Amino acid sequence: MERFSAVAIDGPAGSGKSTIARTVAQELGFLYIDTGAMYRSVALKAKLKGVDLEDEAAMAEVAAGVSICFDATGTRVLLDGADVSEQIRTPEITAITKYAARVVAVRERMVELQRAMAANRPVVMEGRDITTVVLKEAKWRFFVTASAEERANRRFKEFKERGHDVDYDQLLSEIIARDESDNEVGPMKDALEIAHNGGGIVLVDTTLMSPAQVVDAIVDNVRANP
Ligand code: C5P
Repeated sequence: MERFSAVAIDGPAGSGKSTIARTVAQELGFLYIDTGAMYRSVALKAKLKGVDLEDEAAMAEVAAGVSICFDATGTRVLLDGADVSEQIRTPEITAITKYAARVVAVRERMVELQRAMAANRPVVMEGRDITTVVLKEAKWRFFVTASAEERANRRFKEFKERGHDVDYDQLLSEIIARDESDNEVGPMKDALEIAHNGGGIVLVDTTLMSPAQVVDAIVDNVRANP
């Protein structure tokens, strides 16, 4: 079986895994790939085309024809050639992305694209199903998490710092709702189970850790296990 020279990172919404994965990629000199941005892009395209989000066949068709590329840093996302990096992060797109993520044919197409991206170069790829499906043969696999309260608290601070007035309880219920819809898809539960059973996925509970400590823990683990 092919063994990807890759760091696979999964974790729930608000776990800080995007920032962590991006920094780990910089430190290791690997390409960073944010797979959440890909599901968000499919949802955005469906919305722009006026597709019925509940129509699974139509959603699959959108995914089949989509072109999604990242820039060299992995932070800018090009959907059919147009930069949608900001557009895919609005609360509306965050809320409707589940309609793309739950369609099996959409997932199959995303997995195919993601595996192609990791085929010829070392990558740090993050998402929900990277450690168990997309790159289950990755050399290094991590599940990054924190309690729902801590994740809501981090979001709350982020919004406050940017001058937005937000309600902590609402953020917490949004995080819990997203955990529920993500868990329906399955792989997240599998990843946690493998991590708990010592099956090769390293569990990193970041509740009491700073982002820098998490990055160091992951980079140290990768370097210690070449
Ligand atoms: O990581 P991010 O919060 O941007 O992901 C947005 C959504 O995309 C998730 O809530 C989930 O529904 C979906 N997703 C997925 N599989 C992945 C990455 C994201 O289903 N590998």
